[in-house]
Amino acid sequence: MSTIDTQELSRVGGNGRSSADVLEIYSANLMPTFGMPKRVFVRGEGCYVWDVEGRKHLDLLSGLAVNALGHAHPTVLAAITSQLSTLGHVSNFFATPAQVALAERLTGLIPGDAETRVFFANSGTEANEAAFKITRRTGRTKIISTEGAFHGRSTGALAVTHSPKYREPFEPLPGEVIFVPYGDADALAAAIDDTVAAVVLEPIQGENGVVVPPPDYLAQARALCDQAGSLLWIDEVQTGMGRTGSWLVHTDQGVRADIVTVAKGLGNGFPIGACLATGPAATLLGPGSHGSTFGGNPVAAIAGLAVMAVIERDGLLANATAMGEHLAAAIQDLDHPLITGTRGRGLLQAILLAEPAAQQAADAALEAGFVINAPRPDVLRLAPPLIITADQLDTFVAALPAILEAAS
Ligand SMILES: *Cc1c(COP(=O)(O)O)cnc(C)c1O
Repeated sequence: MSTIDTQELSRVGGNGRSSADVLEIYSANLMPTFGMPKRVFVRGEGCYVWDVEGRKHLDLLSGLAVNALGHAHPTVLAAITSQLSTLGHVSNFFATPAQVALAERLTGLIPGDAETRVFFANSGTEANEAAFKITRRTGRTKIISTEGAFHGRSTGALAVTHSPKYREPFEPLPGEVIFVPYGDADALAAAIDDTVAAVVLEPIQGENGVVVPPPDYLAQARALCDQAGSLLWIDEVQTGMGRTGSWLVHTDQGVRADIVTVAKGLGNGFPIGACLATGPAATLLGPGSHGSTFGGNPVAAIAGLAVMAVIERDGLLANATAMGEHLAAAIQDLDHPLITGTRGRGLLQAILLAEPAAQQAADAALEAGFVINAPRPDVLRLAPPLIITADQLDTFVAALPAILEAAS
């Protein structure tokens, strides 16, 4: 019998291969859904990631709004390691203390007397898929979504995602879904009636380029849903869990949702998503109506608990607000001719460009040692770890003029 060399297995995840080797294997073996990767990363610590060639990068995207506590956070690491070595998985025929503790912690984020219940999933898409199924249990099928919306790539989540490029190759998708202009309460008022099961909204449209609606938009949507007897489904997958300086944007604005989905920042990179439903919606999915093999896994649950505990202990909601304001002000102070402004909330920020040079700028930033991305041709997005410091952000702002120079 041959033995498995565990040291060799760890070397596979490390520096054993050159970037060219890894990318050759990548292109021969992975489905070409993402385009060619621009770096092979092997290590992360705090706000930094290192590629296979040893180059250090400041991670200003946190995966994609995922690593809220940065890389290899000691508290998350200790919690995961301890849970994994004690009990790594049981089926959903059984309960674990970690799972119920996170459920209690998450339902505690929703104010009010009505009961809130959680369904655990493994991603934002799956959290939204659960939400989609809840809407079907209302007896109505019509859903109102918004232009520019992104809710995920499964057929249910895709049905409420707007981009024709993502949707059209996969039609017919579950319907009926109507798209109204985002941030426009009058358009929503004109479209909603008592045949609408739900209105689904992101509090800020992240994938569409960090589009911030008018301040009373969510409250107006709530009022319209109340009149029509429709559910308000708020997708906080990108904005939630502290990213924008509060646990959830909509509760911070005093708005009550019937369904809330979270994922990205919750596990700091350990896959987890959650769908929270409040009031009558909390029990619309009854026994046998939904499920997940991995959802509610105790290791993922412990990761979520550790993340929330650190955010609270270290005052990271306040840091996200302060650092977001610092970053936006520092970028505006550059007074750069290619920058027309910034928008966002907390540590979800966009830099708006006067030219469609955002992809070139993101590439130039990577060359300069900064990870950012370009959700639109003229928009750069930053979603740094919530632990980021002003000094770290300032290194990026100082490098930005040269990055834009290289891009245009
Ligand atoms: C990323 C995202 C999703 C999808 O989450 P996945 O974990 O990629 O499935 C859904 N909604 C919003 C608002 C997102 O930003």
